[in-house]
Amino acid sequence: MAVKIEKKNPSGSQEDIDIPDSLPLLPVRDIVLFPFMAIPLFVAREASIKAVDEALATHRMMLLIAQKDASVDDPGPGDLYEVGTVAMLIRMLKLEDDRVKILVQGVARAKVKDIVKTGPFYNVKIDVIDETAPAKKKEGSNNLKNKAIVRAVRTQLEAVIKLGMQIPPDILLVVENLDAPDRLADIIAAHIGLKVEDAQAALETINPSRRLKKVSNFLGKEIEALSVLAKIQDTAQQEMSKSQRQYYLREQLKAIQKELGDIDEKSEELSEFEEKIETAGMPPKVKEEAEKQLSRLGKMHAESAEATIARTYLEWMVELPWSRATKDNIDIKRARQVLDEDHYDLEKVKERILEYLAVRKLKEKAKGPILCFVGPPGVGKTSLGQSVARALERKFTRISLGGVRDEAEIRGHRRTYIGSLPGRIIQGLKTCGSNNPVFMMDEIDKLGADFRGDPSSALLEVLDPAQNHAFVDHYLGAPFDLTNVMFITTANMVDSIPPALLDRMEVISLAGYTEDEKLHIAKKYIIPRQLDENGIAKKHIRFADKAIRIIIRSYTREAGLRNLERTIANICRKVAKDVASGKKHAHSIKPDTLHKYLGTRVYIPEVEQEHSMVGVATGVAWTMAGGQIMLVEATPMRGGGKLMLTGKLGDVMKESAQAALTYIRSKAKRYGIDEDFAGKTDIHVHVPAGAVPKDGPSAGITIATAILSALSDVPVRKDIAMTGEITLRGRVLPIGGLKEKALSAHRAGIKEMIIPITNEKDLEDIPDHIRKTMTFHLAKSADQAFDWALAKKKKRKKGKK
Ligand code: ADP
Repeated sequence: MAVKIEKKNPSGSQEDIDIPDSLPLLPVRDIVLFPFMAIPLFVAREASIKAVDEALATHRMMLLIAQKDASVDDPGPGDLYEVGTVAMLIRMLKLEDDRVKILVQGVARAKVKDIVKTGPFYNVKIDVIDETAPAKKKEGSNNLKNKAIVRAVRTQLEAVIKLGMQIPPDILLVVENLDAPDRLADIIAAHIGLKVEDAQAALETINPSRRLKKVSNFLGKEIEALSVLAKIQDTAQQEMSKSQRQYYLREQLKAIQKELGDIDEKSEELSEFEEKIETAGMPPKVKEEAEKQLSRLGKMHAESAEATIARTYLEWMVELPWSRATKDNIDIKRARQVLDEDHYDLEKVKERILEYLAVRKLKEKAKGPILCFVGPPGVGKTSLGQSVARALERKFTRISLGGVRDEAEIRGHRRTYIGSLPGRIIQGLKTCGSNNPVFMMDEIDKLGADFRGDPSSALLEVLDPAQNHAFVDHYLGAPFDLTNVMFITTANMVDSIPPALLDRMEVISLAGYTEDEKLHIAKKYIIPRQLDENGIAKKHIRFADKAIRIIIRSYTREAGLRNLERTIANICRKVAKDVASGKKHAHSIKPDTLHKYLGTRVYIPEVEQEHSMVGVATGVAWTMAGGQIMLVEATPMRGGGKLMLTGKLGDVMKESAQAALTYIRSKAKRYGIDEDFAGKTDIHVHVPAGAVPKDGPSAGITIATAILSALSDVPVRKDIAMTGEITLRGRVLPIGGLKEKALSAHRAGIKEMIIPITNEKDLEDIPDHIRKTMTFHLAKSADQAFDWALAKKKKRKKGKK
């Protein structure tokens, strides 16, 4: 019953195999076995394992048929194709998980003829298909055609391999050497990964050339599919590499931007500026300029020097109070109250300030003059300005013009270099954050001028109401409206204020205070303020009036109140220290305890130091610090008529010393002096406190008195002070600052004062109580003055000579 098959295997050797009529059936999923092909299979189904066992026990052969649907677990005859392959079991391995691994080799195509047994596995009767018969029949006639197909298939195979299909090299070798179309078709069909139904179709096609054509068709389809796939892959690849490239570039760009100063940060900065410019309330022209600079900044390298300049500039621009202002509260009664609260007396000054405010109230845009407070340090110029601001509810800002020589300090530096800044006006406005503050400019008399430009001309523009609505600071390069600013200037002396500026200002003089006034101010203002500042209660400390007077007289010497305030602060701090460390006793500041707090006295009144002396006269100078006692010494020596002047005297003072000497020479006879003294005597005039420069003509009479006393040997009265310019003919000319001088003489304990008769009208300015306690001699001529100044007794003695 067995069919004997004579076959050529792929290597070409002949084999005779006896195939039994019936074989155990092994249904397989997903694969079609072709004759001569060897494949490994895993067998897991119980029925299948039994079929394998049966085969092993008999001929080691079975029929492999593919399942039509791989998902069917227990396939019946209907689930299987009809044509399968007789397979030889070559090897079998039982696996640990009860599965069996077998290696099978295809022997021949066969068809199921009948089912012999159904359980536990199918045993089937088969019809082995004899392939050799038809091939042999057609051999020759079909030879050429077959060759062409074989060649075509080989080319196709190369193509699929090129397109990426993996085919084992030994199979390729076999393919190359195989010419039989049927075998070629089988081997290719087994290795190009056909779908089960396609592989099955190839299996069922018996005619060799038809089979090969079919395989060629499959290859064609495969080529198509693969080339489409390749194309898709290629595009995907391209797409991927494109996006990858972009990603890479973007990452790189990010790194570069970060390295260059982070674009993100920059744009954030720009939009921040943009917003601030929007809200800064700039006038249109200014805004335009700011926006221009902003767009420039946007184009700059974030870390560059220009960007820093532009950034600083924009910061200034957005922070300036372009339209930020406080609302005025001009209530004259309240203003009066505020001024009184902060300042004692100063009636005239307060009156003038109130007038000024009243005009402002009635006429808002009044272009009144600028107020200029003139007076020695510490008389309350600054604090008056602060009070004005408080009364008006305006902001207060203050700049010092002392030592300003450069126009750029007022008007700013051009923005050409890092570190350039706006001028002090704009700086002051930025600090106070409002465009209508009370703006105090201190020390306008100490403005300098040199090659860097004249700051006073810039100030003129600032202070001129006709020009200052568009004050252009060089740094800003845009106009700022200063019309609402209330400027107040201060100076120690009127003389050194540049005349053009003085012209624009209304001078209000604050002369300085008398001892009584200081006492009052100390009790009413300074002491309460200092107690408060140092956190001391009233019960902790008591100042006796007499002690305050001693502080005023012996620990301070000034027209104003600065040192007095400082000294009182000093005492308060010492008391605060005790209070803080738990000592409860009250401190009583009395004349005899004062030294415990302040040490020994600093000043001893000149009058107390000196007796009436020959050759020493007491003058009164008017300095920046107010009036001051000034001793003038003269000594004759043997010589040739030279006049030596020491004590850092200015030219005017030297000339007036010369005039004094000449006058005395002309009057030598009258005063009993050797008329030829000039030929044999040198005279040295010295004004002590040598380091302090002194100038002005008003010491003329004092110098003359000293020289006369020295030459005539008559002492000068120590309790009399004098001031006045002297002419060659001995007339006494008026002087300035009489009030300050009188106050300082009074401070020094002097009771009598010789003044030019032409200054009589100024006596009105001197406070009553001083006028009452002092005697003022009104001198018309130098002789009159000498008469009062030189001690009578000696003079008489002289006269007797
Ligand atoms: P200036 O600006 O003239 O140098 P300040 O304004 O600094 O002087 O005044 C010095 C101190 O003296 C301040 O504490 C001020 O309050 C005080 N002061 C000045 N004058 C008076 C016054 N008339 N009444 C009360 N305190 C005064």
